[in-house]
Amino acid sequence: MTTLLRDIENGTLVVTIDAPDQSVNTLGASLVDEFEEMMQLATTDASVASVMIISGKPDGFIAGADIEQLQHLNGVTGTELSRTGQRLLDHLSTLRKPVVAAIHGACLGGGLELALACSYRICSSDPSTSLGLPEVQLGLIPGMGGTQRLPRHVGLDVALDMILTGRALHAERALRVGLVHEVVHPSTLREMALARAAALARHTLPVPHKRRKRTTTVLLEHNAIGRAIVFRKARQSVLAKTHGNYPAPLVALDVIRTGYDRGMQAGLDAESHAFGQMVATQQSRELVFLFFASNAAKKDPGVPEPAPDPRDVQRLGIIGAGFMGSGIAAVASQRGTLVRMQDTDTAKIGKGIAAVRDIVRERASRSRTSHHQIDDQLALVSGTTDYSGIGASDLVIEAVFEDLATKQQVLRETEARVATDAVYASNTSTIPIGEIASAAEHPERVLGMHFFSPVHRMPLLEVITTPETTAQATVTAVAYGKRLGKTVIVVRDSPGFYTTRILSAYMNEAGRLLDEGTRVEAIDEALVTFGFPVGPITLLDEVGIDVGGKVAGVLAQAYGSRMVPADSMRRAVQAGRTGRKGRKGFYLYDSRGERGKVDETVYTDAAPSKAGGVPANEITERCVLAMVNEALLALQEGVLRSPRDGDLGAVFGLGFPPFRGGPFRYVDAASAEEILERLEDLESRYPGRFAPADLLVDMARSRKRFYSV
Ligand code: NAD
Repeated sequence: MTTLLRDIENGTLVVTIDAPDQSVNTLGASLVDEFEEMMQLATTDASVASVMIISGKPDGFIAGADIEQLQHLNGVTGTELSRTGQRLLDHLSTLRKPVVAAIHGACLGGGLELALACSYRICSSDPSTSLGLPEVQLGLIPGMGGTQRLPRHVGLDVALDMILTGRALHAERALRVGLVHEVVHPSTLREMALARAAALARHTLPVPHKRRKRTTTVLLEHNAIGRAIVFRKARQSVLAKTHGNYPAPLVALDVIRTGYDRGMQAGLDAESHAFGQMVATQQSRELVFLFFASNAAKKDPGVPEPAPDPRDVQRLGIIGAGFMGSGIAAVASQRGTLVRMQDTDTAKIGKGIAAVRDIVRERASRSRTSHHQIDDQLALVSGTTDYSGIGASDLVIEAVFEDLATKQQVLRETEARVATDAVYASNTSTIPIGEIASAAEHPERVLGMHFFSPVHRMPLLEVITTPETTAQATVTAVAYGKRLGKTVIVVRDSPGFYTTRILSAYMNEAGRLLDEGTRVEAIDEALVTFGFPVGPITLLDEVGIDVGGKVAGVLAQAYGSRMVPADSMRRAVQAGRTGRKGRKGFYLYDSRGERGKVDETVYTDAAPSKAGGVPANEITERCVLAMVNEALLALQEGVLRSPRDGDLGAVFGLGFPPFRGGPFRYVDAASAEEILERLEDLESRYPGRFAPADLLVDMARSRKRFYSV
C-alpha cells in the first residue's frame, strides 16, 4: 500500500511517497486521508514554508492510479472517485505555500496529474524518467484534472497528442514543452528540489520563463475558430486510427474542449462525469484485463511451480542470419547478450549483420541511445560460417529455411558442438517441434521459440514444448523471452501451435469468401472495422501468399476438411502472386513496396468477382468465429494452458482487437450460449467448418464463463 512519509527539513515539509511492499507507487483511496492531513499540516504549521513531494523508490515516482481499485469500486462510482481526486489536487494547487514535485522515473497518469497541481516540477535527466497520461490505453481518460491542467501548461497541441495517444515524454522534451521547469542530474534531484522549494518560499526564485509559443499555435489556440479547427482535425485523426472502436480519446477531446469553451470548473465537471462513464465501458474492462494478464504473464515461469531456475543466457547462438535471425540478434544485442550468428556463406552473414545494424540504429533513434551505446551493442554481434563460437552458447535459436530436413541437419550439427545442457530452440512457424527434435541426441532440451515478424516490433513470443522438453529448458526460453521484452505464452507442440493455427482458420475463411466472389477490399474493410490492424488479405500479401499457401497445406493435412485451403489462394499462388515482397499480390505495389489499390487482375487469375458479394457483418462473423472456435479447440485439446494465454497470444501475436480482450474474452462478453448458437447457425450453412468445440457446448449448457470478471 502506498503511504506518505512526512518530515520537515529546514522549513520544507518533505513528503515521501512510498509503497514498500510494491514495485511501484500507485495512488489509491487509502491515500486520501493522508493527503488531507499533509495539506492540513502544510497550511497550519508555521514552521513549514514550503512542500516538496518525492518518491521513496530509487527508480520511479508514481506509476498511476491503482488500477485494481478501479475494478472493484465497492459502490463508489467512477465519477465520485474522480471528484475526490480532483478535490484533493485542487486543494494542493491552491495551497498558500509553494509545492515542488521532484520527479525521477515513471511519472504517469495520476502521478503526473499530482505533479501538474504542484507549483514547480523538477525532474531527473535519467533515461527512465517519463511523464505521461496513458489513461486512454486502458480505455479511460485522466480523472484528476489532467485533461484541464495539462493543456494549460503545455498548450493544446502537445496536450492533445499526449492525452489522445497516451504517449509519454522524456525529461528533455518535457522541459522543452514546458511540462517541467527544470531538469537535473538524478544524484542532485533531492537537493535541488529542496533548494527550489526554499527559494520559492522566499520569493527569490526567478519566475520560470514561459514556454515560447509558435505563431501558428497562438493563432490556432487562442481563438474559437482556430481551436475548432484543431479539435476537428484531432477528431478525424482519432477516428482514422480507431474506426470509432475506442470511445475514450473522443470523450477526452470533448472534455478538453469544454474546459477551453466554458472554463476550468466546467471542464473538471465534464472530466469526472466522463471518467465515470469510461470506467464502466466494455472497452476499458478488456484493456484493463489485458494489462493484468500481461503482468501475470511476466510473473509466470512457464511451468507449474515449483519451477527450476532458468539458465542465465549470456551467449546466444543464432543459426540462419536471414530476416528472422537478424531480427532476433538485434533485440538480443540491445539487451546485452553476446550473439554469434551462423549462416552458409559470408555474404549472408554480412547481410545479416547489416540488418542488425539497421534495426539497432532505428530503435536507438527513438530511445535516445548514445552513439557509444549503439557501438557497444553492435560489438556484441558477430558471425561465422563454420559454427566457430557457437559451442559456447547457453541458448541456440535456429531460424533457417522452413524445411524439416534442413532444420534437422542444423540441429545435429549444432548439438555436436554445444554443451549438453544448452537449450536449443527452433523459430519454425509450422513444423512440429517433435519432428525436428526427433533428430536430436537430447530431445529434452529442444523446444520452439516462435517469434513474430518484425521481431523488434511484435510483442509476443510463443514457446512450444514437446512431451520430452524439460522444465529447465522451458523456463530458460520463457525467462529469456521476457528479457527480450516479450509477452510469453507456452503452448503444447501440435500442428500450427496456437497462433498459426487460429490465424489459418481465419485466413482460410477469408479465402472462401473470395471463392464466393466477395471483393478483396470488402473483406479487409469488414475486419478492420471489427478492430484488426489490417484485413486478412492485406496480411496475406504482407506475409507472402506462397508462405500462406504452404502453411495452409500443412494445417489441412493435420486438421482435415475444416482447414482445406481456399481455391482462390491456391490459384493466386499458381498465378505467381507472392504478395508485397514480389510486388504482385492481391493489391498493387509501387517500386518502393507501397500498397495501392486492389489488383483487378486477381479477379481473372485467382478469384471470381460477383456483384453484391457477402455483406460486411457476415464476413466478420465467418472469419472471427472460425478463429474463435479454433482457439476453443486448442484450449480443449490442451494446446493452450489457459484462456489467458489464448487471449494474450491472439492480441499480441495476431492483432486481435485489444478492446475485445481476445477470443476467450469475446466469448465471455457475448456468452457461451450465444456464441454456440451463432456457430451452429454457420455450421448449418457451411457444414464441416464451424462445428462448435465440445468445450463451448459444455460451457453453454452449464452457463459457464472463462473469467470471473
Ligand atoms: P530467411 O530466408 O530470411 O532466412 C533464412 C536464413 O537461413 C538464410 O539466410 C539462409 O541462408 C539460412 N540458412 C539456410 N540453411 C542454412 C544452414 N544449413 N545453416 C545455416 N544457415 C542456413 O527466412 P526467415 O523469414 O528469417 O525465416 C526463418 C525461419 O523463421 C523459418 O523457419 C520461418 O518459418 C520462421 N518464421 C518466419 C517468420 C517471417 O515472418 N518471416 C515469422 C515467424 C517464423
